Amino acid sequence: MENRHKIGLRPRPAIGLGGVARDAAAPQPAPAASPASRPSVMQAPVLVLNATFEPINVTAVRRALVLMLKGVAQAEETNHSEVHSTSKAIQVPSVIRLLSYRHIPQQSRALSRKNILLRDRNTCQFCGEALPASELTLDHVMPRSRGGRSSWENLVASCYTCNNRKGDRTPEEAGLKLRRRPRPFTLHTSRQLMRLIGHRDEKWRKYLFY
Ligand SMILES: [Zn+2]
Repeated sequence: MENRHKIGLRPRPAIGLGGVARDAAAPQPAPAASPASRPSVMQAPVLVLNATFEPINVTAVRRALVLMLKGVAQAEETNHSEVHSTSKAIQVPSVIRLLSYRHIPQQSRALSRKNILLRDRNTCQFCGEALPASELTLDHVMPRSRGGRSSWENLVASCYTCNNRKGDRTPEEAGLKLRRRPRPFTLHTSRQLMRLIGHRDEKWRKYLFY
């Protein structure tokens, strides 16, 4: 419970469960959910829909339950497990929907290493190899030494080999080719990530237009 300040949980009649919710601002790779272990149930991903049923985010079960208990959201789909508070049992949500419409700004993702790697799916944008985050760096497509900015359009995930090979050159000069033109992390990008995260959960599909 020591992490409750991170997710804005105020002390209140608690649902009496351990587990740590991560910041739900960005889609996270789904942790393996094992019904036998409560902390991982609480961290399992939940799809968040706007009041209009439009998918807008992925959060953790723990955060979703808080939104439900506050009356901000309701469960649209549940999975088979239940969590127990002192007074009642609640079905663990798989998909929740906000009860009032929330305007989502066009550019809602912060420019950060984590979000660049998410956008690029932990894949080197030059050689195409998917790697753990620790084996990736951020490459300035137009090198900083030549005026390249730190922006969504000029930063890509790169393995160290490609990054070294490129050095202070443009991809063309180094004989490298970008797999995709880097773009800002939009809701469209988020939705692709939601699909990736949610591919194990059949209940997400109708909301993500599979
Ligand atoms: Zn590479």
